[in-house]
Amino acid sequence: MNTRQKNNHKTGYVSHKIYQQHVLSPGHPESPARLQAIEKILDQTGMSKELKHISPKKDPFESINEIHSSNHIRQVQTIPVTGRAAARAVSGVLEAVDAVCQKTVNNVFCAVRPPGHHAQNAGHEEGFCFYNNVAVASRYIQKKYHLQKILIIDWDYHHGNGTEAAFYKDPSVLFFSTHDWYAYPGTGDPSRTGDGKGSGFNINAHLPPGSGDDAIKRAWDKQLWPLLDDFNPDFILISAGFDSRKQDLLGCFSITDQGFSDLTQMGIQIADQYCDGRLVSLLEGGYNPQGLAKAVAAHIKSLILYA
Ligand SMILES: [Zn+2]
Repeated sequence: MNTRQKNNHKTGYVSHKIYQQHVLSPGHPESPARLQAIEKILDQTGMSKELKHISPKKDPFESINEIHSSNHIRQVQTIPVTGRAAARAVSGVLEAVDAVCQKTVNNVFCAVRPPGHHAQNAGHEEGFCFYNNVAVASRYIQKKYHLQKILIIDWDYHHGNGTEAAFYKDPSVLFFSTHDWYAYPGTGDPSRTGDGKGSGFNINAHLPPGSGDDAIKRAWDKQLWPLLDDFNPDFILISAGFDSRKQDLLGCFSITDQGFSDLTQMGIQIADQYCDGRLVSLLEGGYNPQGLAKAVAAHIKSLILYA
């Protein structure tokens, strides 16, 4: 039974000015324009007023240390602006977890940059990522709130190889990724299902180029829902990449804004059924700023509506 308190602001929104100051290189598609487009649409639609705005302040380094090597952290922190933005992105996601666990809000969308799901310990950027925000958040939830079973849903066009690597042998984190296996970074083979005690807890669902709403929903129905009764998650994190949207510059899927709205509703349904509604979504890819903004607006609208 759902015992959640209903809050005045049901949905939180994490943002920070430094997320718009980080630039990989001039003209790079992972640009501040992505967040500017999102903020514009939230203002224009009036949705911004319906959100509880969260500005992250927490020191994230103890938690980043749980996933990343000290060498990697040292290297990233030497990059001007970017190092601070990457740390603040993690901080934002951790504050979102706090807000949900302390029931300030029911769910949160984190409009963070840089993204995280490709990040491992290379000592530099991988796939536009520096720290694996979703992986760090998973360990933080387990450690601080003693909520042990984490479900990560990754709907980015690309495989979340960093996230897979972090939990490949770990049965406490169920990683469900829909992606195009043949795109960057070339990982995401469906036969890779986890190792040792983690066997069966890594689900790679390959979708061919052109895949749309029906294909991704079918993957959820066939490969995610049947696992949930046994896994029984305590917290849901969404690696929300919108390069799986139609008309993306880097992605080749054709998911519509209604599709993202439906997936969000399903995510909330899972959260309600299994984990008292606890859900945090964080931005990964999405490289057509106008399209990204529309998809994020549809996603947030559903987060508010169904929370
Ligand atoms: Zn991507």
